[in-house]
Amino acid sequence: MRRNLERRGMDVDTRCVLCNRGWEDGSHLFFNCKHVKRVWQVVGMEEKRKEFTELTSSLLMIQHLVQLEEDLQVKVVVLLWQWWNERNNVREGAKQRAADLLSYEIERNSAEFLAMGSPNPAEHMGIVQNWRKPEEVLKINSDGAFVAQTGEGGWGFVIRDKEGEVIYAGAGKLEHLRDALQAEIRACLEGTKGAAEMGLGRVVVETDSLILKNSLKDNSYRLAEAGGAILELKNFIREHFFSCVVNYVPRSCNKVAHALAAKGTVGTERNTPPHERWKTSAVAVPDHRRRSHSRAII
Ligand SMILES: [Zn+2]
Repeated sequence: MRRNLERRGMDVDTRCVLCNRGWEDGSHLFFNCKHVKRVWQVVGMEEKRKEFTELTSSLLMIQHLVQLEEDLQVKVVVLLWQWWNERNNVREGAKQRAADLLSYEIERNSAEFLAMGSPNPAEHMGIVQNWRKPEEVLKINSDGAFVAQTGEGGWGFVIRDKEGEVIYAGAGKLEHLRDALQAEIRACLEGTKGAAEMGLGRVVVETDSLILKNSLKDNSYRLAEAGGAILELKNFIREHFFSCVVNYVPRSCNKVAHALAAKGTVGTERNTPPHERWKTSAVAVPDHRRRSHSRAII
């Protein structure tokens, strides 16, 4: 870091790359810079950040880190690593990413790391590994797609009954997106609207976006840019269902919604409506369900 280089006798600009103020040492860059504080806040680890700022040496910080629970440990390490990359990108002239987009990446990376290191990822993460038939309620799977280069994307949802039969599905195109979270929120909203249209009172929503799941659970996103859309979705759910459970599932359990979101993204070719819905049990869903490499779709 710049401050370290200066101590070693180099004549460098020691200001923080991100806020242009302060000494850029480790404690400023990772814990005290106003920009990084936002990120800690949005990923729900503000308390952890405070704990770290009270430690006076790197050694104490490492000791503190290794005694955290594994999922927190991973999340902290991923945050620090993402933030270091962010700082380097900004130094090279890139635009700083919004805290909610960055925390989306952090949640996703952390989930992936945890899944990799665990002999039984599903058990470890407290999530279902294969798509399960809902018991008495209908299950909505939703997914959003986002293409950073164009700001375009798509939404997709599929609603299944307790037999696992698809009873309603939809896909549509999105434009002028700011980030992936926006597409996820819209997909979830379209899915819940579909369910409400059918008069379903009890639903389970499954998403592969941890950040969407978490933001529906608490109010940590009220201040983020996506806050308005999250509130709209929350209000819709509150008004239309007497029971709605939101679960996080890995992408492997969300393949159909994922394929539909991909279909939505390319949906506005000539003569194609901006969105499509199918309300039968024989839905023409692209046959990605049997593909094991679903990540290759987008
Ligand atoms: Zn700073």
